[in-house]
Amino acid sequence: MEKIVIMKFGGSSVGDVSKIKNVADKILAKKKAGYKIVVVVSAPGDTTDDLLKMAYDITKNPDDREMDVLLSTGEQISISLLSISIKVKGIDAISLTGSQVGILTTDSHTKAKIKEISSEKILLELAHNKIVIVAGFQGVTEDKTITTLGRGGSDLSAVALAAVLEAECEIYTDVEGIYTTDPRIVEKATKIDYISYDEILEMASLGAGVMHARAVEVGKKYGVVIHVRSTFTETEGTYIVEEDSAMEDVVVRGVVFDKNQVKISVLHIPDEPGVAASLFESLAKSEVNVDMIIQSTAENNKNNISFTIDKSDLAKAMIVVKVLEENGTKILYDDEVAKISIVGVGMKSHAAVASTMFKALADNEVNIHMISTSEIKVSCVIDFVKLEVAATAVHKVFGLDS
Ligand code: ASP
Ligand code: MG
Repeated sequence: MEKIVIMKFGGSSVGDVSKIKNVADKILAKKKAGYKIVVVVSAPGDTTDDLLKMAYDITKNPDDREMDVLLSTGEQISISLLSISIKVKGIDAISLTGSQVGILTTDSHTKAKIKEISSEKILLELAHNKIVIVAGFQGVTEDKTITTLGRGGSDLSAVALAAVLEAECEIYTDVEGIYTTDPRIVEKATKIDYISYDEILEMASLGAGVMHARAVEVGKKYGVVIHVRSTFTETEGTYIVEEDSAMEDVVVRGVVFDKNQVKISVLHIPDEPGVAASLFESLAKSEVNVDMIIQSTAENNKNNISFTIDKSDLAKAMIVVKVLEENGTKILYDDEVAKISIVGVGMKSHAAVASTMFKALADNEVNIHMISTSEIKVSCVIDFVKLEVAATAVHKVFGLDS
């Protein structure tokens, strides 16, 4: 039997009609190569943003259920136009919405979770030798209400379908794969051939705009090999796979940064039990996401605590910490910082990884404000203006330069 392959095309790959025709040609070439094909597409270009804007032009608080009805229309444009483009070439195709496929989700609108996917309809159409084109990012609840899976959710649709159909999964996008770092900042960034699920999840959580994290989680859970590659070239991209021992030979897989951080320092706070608990409890209550935290050694029964948050949470966080000033605590914040991180499963079996990073930063006169580590990452908060110098140096010292 022919193998099934999922080909997922993002919004930039189907941005206009000529691009859609190009995608149709790619699909037909794959079909000729002897595959059964299930295509998943996103909405064309900025369609989803445009739809959101229209609703927000009416009200700040649009109804969730209706938002899903609205947002799911973007993907319907892509599936129908793509199906038309394939059919004019004399090959049979069928477009299907999430609901027609039977992608069953929870009812948490705009961020629904996939509960179950029925493969019946897709397998039937494939058996009729059709190319099946599925709308990404959308599903349906048991009572037939349309849902969407959260921004960027078409990746998730593709990987979940690959899991159910035991298919290969190709994610086509406007870059050639996943890079060791952002090529716009470090010229010598290189394409990664293989990366583990855990590494890419870590990179995503550290601020890299790579793949949709839930899609990778599903890939990991069901052992779906995900091939991220370019729509516009034939070059092999990056394979996201289960880690094997050979992968640990590479100490650092990538260098990631987050330019959206702010550091808040709370100085001379009383050194007694419950102080940190109440501070971070209040921040949590205000829905401020805290990332790194350091507390220095107490002096004269006073402590200094610094932490980082997302820039967008600064106003909320300041309301919480300002209250502490009444008792002689001083509050400072610094929004000219950035976080630079190295990620790699090889760190588990190699020593001196952190010190190598610190040394590279020191040699380039980059001061480190904060440090945090996990089994497969080391992160440093540094001055924003030093980001490029720091990234270039760290990328080089771990042998990642092209
Ligand atoms: N069209 C949706 C979005 O822009 C889903 C996707 O692109 O994956 O978020
Ligand atoms: Mg999109």
